[in-house]
Amino acid sequence: MENQIKTDLLSLSVTELEKFVTEELGEAKYRAKQIFTNIHRGVPPSEITNLSKALRQKLEEKCEYRLPRIERKLVSKLDGTVKYLFQLIDGNCIETVVMKYNHGNTVCISSQVGCRMGCRFCASTIGGKVRDLTPSELLGQVIMAQKDTGERISNIVMMGIGEPLDNFENVVKFLALVGCEDGLNIGYRHISLSTCGIVDKIYELRELDLPITLSISLHAPDDETRSAIMPINNKWSVSELLRACRDYYAVTKRRISFEYTLISGKNDSAENAEKLASVLNSLLRAGKDIMPIHVNLIPVNEVKETGFRRSGDAAVKAFAAVLEKRGIRATVRRKLGSDINASCGQLRREAAKKEE
Ligand code: SAH
Repeated sequence: MENQIKTDLLSLSVTELEKFVTEELGEAKYRAKQIFTNIHRGVPPSEITNLSKALRQKLEEKCEYRLPRIERKLVSKLDGTVKYLFQLIDGNCIETVVMKYNHGNTVCISSQVGCRMGCRFCASTIGGKVRDLTPSELLGQVIMAQKDTGERISNIVMMGIGEPLDNFENVVKFLALVGCEDGLNIGYRHISLSTCGIVDKIYELRELDLPITLSISLHAPDDETRSAIMPINNKWSVSELLRACRDYYAVTKRRISFEYTLISGKNDSAENAEKLASVLNSLLRAGKDIMPIHVNLIPVNEVKETGFRRSGDAAVKAFAAVLEKRGIRATVRRKLGSDINASCGQLRREAAKKEE
């Protein structure tokens, strides 16, 4: 009997595709790499001209290949940042941003439709989680960004909508796919994964020992302050999270970066900065060697629904100065795409509201 479910081509590794091409399609094994290279560049099977017409037809019949569709696209006049609202096959929308730096282009991708982590300052979580993205939808964002901008993407940050460690298996599969030499060839070292701190998954990730950069959304130095803005902290405390970071570093030896969103009156006082310096300093020196870390300070992007205000310039400067004095490396993140409101989750919400 004919299999009704079509094979999701972009989710297959080269080996899986080889198996599919030989066993399901009865074609020569070397065809797999031709197909892989093309679909990872954004060429649909029907347009891979070095394949026979019969094979192209078979692929169309048995397989699914659909890149995210551009629903909206905003380009910053200030710095060239491009923000996409992509529509997926089931009509759901996600956001993807391309940022241009001197060292190359970075794409910021979403990992889920919505998010269930409930961080109080964040727009992406307001409607909860709708569903996880598949490996091919994760990959599709990078492929489409590269195809549409016509420029090579060299780095990926998983800092868009969703919590990547809440979609663990698909994300790990995606990380392997996107690094394939026959495909996009963006290796682990060029990828950052940001998490709000799902501690058991940080340990699972540690087992895989991938040379990616782990980025921790810390946003507060103690449990009282953190639990007030991040519900995940009720499950794992700041000290449990930092211990996981230490243990993660012990295996991977990769620098960990910490995100700290500055919210006026919530977590931006001099006392908060002193506490942050203290907890990070004891983390740094907890093991045999000094653990390399970096802190990114980000004045919060104001989201109407949350009512949180960004810290003033003076408070940001003062906060950074305390960290510097205490020997913690910190930078205030340069804001890209401020004219197109590149802060994540907001375009998707606007689109959803229009439909209501
Ligand atoms: N779920 C992951 C990744 C997505 S969010 C995580 O929590 O890390 C990417 C980063 O943007 C996180 O550090 C998140 O806390 C931060 N963020 C969310 N909403 C923000 C806002 N309104 N202003 C500034 N940063 C925000």
